[in-house]
Amino acid sequence: MDIVVGYPPIYDQILKVFPWIENQAILFSWGPTIYNPSNADVPYPLIRHEAVHEHQQGGDILGWWHRYMEDEEFRLRQEVSAHCSEWLAMCDDAQNRHERRLLLKIVGSKLSAPMYGSMVRVKTAMKLIKGAIDANSAGSVRVDREPLQREQEEDNL
Ligand SMILES: [Zn+2]
Repeated sequence: MDIVVGYPPIYDQILKVFPWIENQAILFSWGPTIYNPSNADVPYPLIRHEAVHEHQQGGDILGWWHRYMEDEEFRLRQEVSAHCSEWLAMCDDAQNRHERRLLLKIVGSKLSAPMYGSMVRVKTAMKLIKGAIDANSAGSVRVDREPLQREQEEDNL
């Protein structure tokens, strides 16, 4: 993927839906291009994350973005897949189960962040990511076909 320091084509529309992201260090996938307006470091796990969105966008980048902005269930599914790849890439350097778990908590925190609209709690995010990987352990992670179990929001997970 190419990294461009600048704003994605429909940045104004994105800002209307997610006004809190203004002036934050955020990456935007636009097909094979990653827009990086704040010129932040882009570590390998984030490239894996954005590559999932590139794949999801396929030949309809604009259509994907509109659905992403309007449909929270769709957005959650897209982001669970992307965060799965991000976590797996982070785990390349993990020494053991304990470290992988800590990294899962970091990635789960990101998925549950206000940036995406506070879609789920951290523990639910961790469960969704881990569950998607366990269910797809033989191949690449695809969670965009099945509804996600979001009602399990108990604190004692
Ligand atoms: Zn994402």
